[in-house]
Amino acid sequence: MSAKVEDKLFLNRFNVDDESHLRLIDPDVCMKKCDDQPCLYICPANVYKMEKDRVSVNYEGCLECGSCRVGCPHFNIDWRFPRGGYGVRHKFG
Ligand code: SF4
Ligand code: SF4
Repeated sequence: MSAKVEDKLFLNRFNVDDESHLRLIDPDVCMKKCDDQPCLYICPANVYKMEKDRVSVNYEGCLECGSCRVGCPHFNIDWRFPRGGYGVRHKFG
């Protein structure tokens, strides 16, 4: 029997930095120019969420896969890896 994605993600652990490694360059672009808002559904960790009148970035659960970086049609995500020692640790447990 194969494990579900949710179960596999549960094996990840995070060393969360106080400082976000992901940033929307211009939040207005998200609301006014981005019709499909693909970041809301391509991120496997649901980092990007629509909250009232803005897109929030819950960087703490980022898996560092880079999908949002290439998937944003407006190049509106300032993407970098977390600082050394921070971020996801895969396949823990
Ligand atoms: S895909 Fe890019 S421009 Fe569109 S909502 Fe997400 S971050 Fe904003
Ligand atoms: S790098 Fe991957 S996991 Fe992290 S926010 Fe972007 S799409 Fe989500």
